[in-house]
Amino acid sequence: MRCKKCPQRAAIKLPQHNISFCKDCFTEFVHSQVAKAIKSQKMFTPEDHILVAVSGGKDSLALWAILLKLGYHADALYLDLGIGNYSVQSRHKVDHFHETVAQPQGATLHIHTLAENEGAGVKELATMMHRPTCSTCGTMKRYHFNRAALEKDYDVMATGHNLDDEAARLLGNVLRWQTEFLDKQTPTLPASVDGFAKKVKPLYRLTEREMAAYAVINKISYIVDECPMAKGSKMLVYKDVLNRLETESPGTKQSFYLKFLDKQAKEQASTGSITSHDQQRLTPCQTCGQPTSMEVCTYCKMMAKAKAHV
Ligand code: AMP
Ligand code: ZN
Repeated sequence: MRCKKCPQRAAIKLPQHNISFCKDCFTEFVHSQVAKAIKSQKMFTPEDHILVAVSGGKDSLALWAILLKLGYHADALYLDLGIGNYSVQSRHKVDHFHETVAQPQGATLHIHTLAENEGAGVKELATMMHRPTCSTCGTMKRYHFNRAALEKDYDVMATGHNLDDEAARLLGNVLRWQTEFLDKQTPTLPASVDGFAKKVKPLYRLTEREMAAYAVINKISYIVDECPMAKGSKMLVYKDVLNRLETESPGTKQSFYLKFLDKQAKEQASTGSITSHDQQRLTPCQTCGQPTSMEVCTYCKMMAKAKAHV
């Protein structure tokens, strides 16, 4: 089988696009999809300073690599959650990528360690607060990503969510008709309220399989294991269901999420409503100053509970 764009032998087949590419043309295809995402969703410009949240996984490390290759100012933030060997290994991958690829291009890596700053890892914090680990982890990530972007003066915060992540999340929200969450499922969330950083997902057009192939082809060493806390999560079930549909009819995932975005954009253009944080009334948290719909934000409430436990 030959590459669609050049005479070389094809290395990957993309049934949803009905195309095969060699390694070089596939790399170019991924870059063009990211460039299209950035432009069409007005994510950022070459003048902006971007903070990429890197987990050590394929998506976020590849995103950092791609943004640097495309010539953007992209630094990164790693949140050390203190999840045993999983966090040790993922930190190792992030450090290695920083030292070998990003630092030589002038990019900085910021690290926030929960054990040092919050006094314990996410599992221990969750136990102290009698809350599920994954929701505690979600609160920690949202809080620290936003806070780091604002305090370190970045224009925008980027995460490595891919098409599989977004389609699975959309399926979960649709199954429960959580329309308030549907409104926020856009690849660009503007910083329309003081205290909220602009947030973007430049990989939303690319599948998990495409991102894994990109990382392997471009020799990006990443942590292959899923987070041990995610075992049995609903998101993994939704991803599996979507993959089965995708095998039966290629392109299902893409049309499910991208057509949702088209429909949403049309509705917003006609109603003039803005997809952002400002649908809720937000005020600064009395403890930390971050925006919240309550007097004290969820993070500060959680930390107060954890401290009371010690
Ligand atoms: P997940 O919620 O684990 O699917 O991760 C989604 C995105 O969040 C990743 O692509 C990263 O951009 C970011 N992320 C997840 N875990 C971390 C972490 N420990 N440190 C920094 N960023 C992370
Ligand atoms: Zn707070």
